[in-house]
Amino acid sequence: MNIKKLIAPYLEANTFILEKNGHVLIVDCGVPTEEIKQTVSDRAVDGVLLTHGHFDHSRFCQEYAKAFHCKIFASSFVQQTMTDIEALYSEHGEKFANFSCFEFLDGDQTLKIGEFQVESYYCPGHSICSTCYKIENLLFAGDVLFDRSIGRTDLKYSDRNMMYQTLCKLDSISFERVYSGHGEESTFSEQKKNIAVYKRFLTR
Ligand SMILES: [Zn+2]
Repeated sequence: MNIKKLIAPYLEANTFILEKNGHVLIVDCGVPTEEIKQTVSDRAVDGVLLTHGHFDHSRFCQEYAKAFHCKIFASSFVQQTMTDIEALYSEHGEKFANFSCFEFLDGDQTLKIGEFQVESYYCPGHSICSTCYKIENLLFAGDVLFDRSIGRTDLKYSDRNMMYQTLCKLDSISFERVYSGHGEESTFSEQKKNIAVYKRFLTR
């Protein structure tokens, strides 16, 4: 599997283009659609995984679904966060109303999306709609885990106690590398230390 990272102009959120056997899976939707089209070229897009509803990650999701004729996979809680301007943190106060292109996830699930086998983990804390996705031993963590940090828990629909429970869940999962919603990748051992530090911090 090949991975290409593109960085969105708004808040520098990462969008990942995963490629396997000529098929593509996209993680998050903050990068303008034209740029994604150029990267995808004539390959089939099997689906789009949304890590959470914040605007820097979800902005172009409906455009991607239309351009690539695919579904957007996301926690069912995005219906709560993406229809609430205060919780969406959008650039110009836009919000979403139509979820017809979405396939909602409920709890932790194993998904077969075209060529890709995906484990989805419901990971609230940064947002009530946060979901992490494990694909081939790689964890796509959105704004839950960063390189030497974790996501903010002071936003609308954030919850410090839920973040603690999420860190406990992620601590029990094995993976090789973490691809975060902002910034650089990190390794399993780096994240083991990171998670331990922030579990202590959240219970202080
Ligand atoms: Zn976020």
